[in-house]
Amino acid sequence: MGDNGITSLLILQDREMNLECIERSLEALPRERESIQKKIVGFEEDIESGKQRIKEMEVRGKAIETEMGEVENQALKYKSQQLEVKKNEEYTALTHEIELADAKVSSLEESELKLLYELDDARETQSKDEAEIKEKIEMESRALSRLDEKEANLKNEIDAARQAVGEAEAQVDKQPLSIYRRVARGLKYPIIVPLRDAKCQGCHMRVSAAVEVEARKANEITTCDNCGRIVYWDA
Ligand SMILES: [Zn+2]
Repeated sequence: MGDNGITSLLILQDREMNLECIERSLEALPRERESIQKKIVGFEEDIESGKQRIKEMEVRGKAIETEMGEVENQALKYKSQQLEVKKNEEYTALTHEIELADAKVSSLEESELKLLYELDDARETQSKDEAEIKEKIEMESRALSRLDEKEANLKNEIDAARQAVGEAEAQVDKQPLSIYRRVARGLKYPIIVPLRDAKCQGCHMRVSAAVEVEARKANEITTCDNCGRIVYWDA
């Protein structure tokens, strides 16, 4: 095997890929964090809307009580008016009003009782739901802390990874390096791939016989005649 500098290029590629991987992970962090934070906000909204439902029921209960008080007062007024009226039909009319008021009060009492049962159920459900949701929030918060840790680790790694790329690059000869840089434009890793059964392991196409021979000799940097990647003979 000739010395075309492929070994040092492979080391460079390896370190560049490692650096890229760290960079990608760092870039992905804000999105990951945002999606967790959205989940937490959603959970908090669930708790809040449950509380709101209960509040609305309590307000309805108060309204029923207020109305009941008003109707009862009205009935008392009718009763005292009855003591003063002289005409029979006025007395009868007031009796009718009093009956209506009493009926209204019992229907309000019924609604109130029904509401109180519903409120009991709702409070019970709410406290159970809230406990479950808080557990979920706790889990998501832990995931957030793990992301913070991950970020700190990646930031620690990235400087070393950059330095490693620089060191590897310094080991590559000028000409292979310039071919590598040129080929790398517009390509995703891997840029250097082995040939297996005369097939480029980047595009999986069979290379020409000339390319195969060149790669075998390894006297210079050889590229795939289909995708342009640097190929080497994988013995
Ligand atoms: Zn190829």
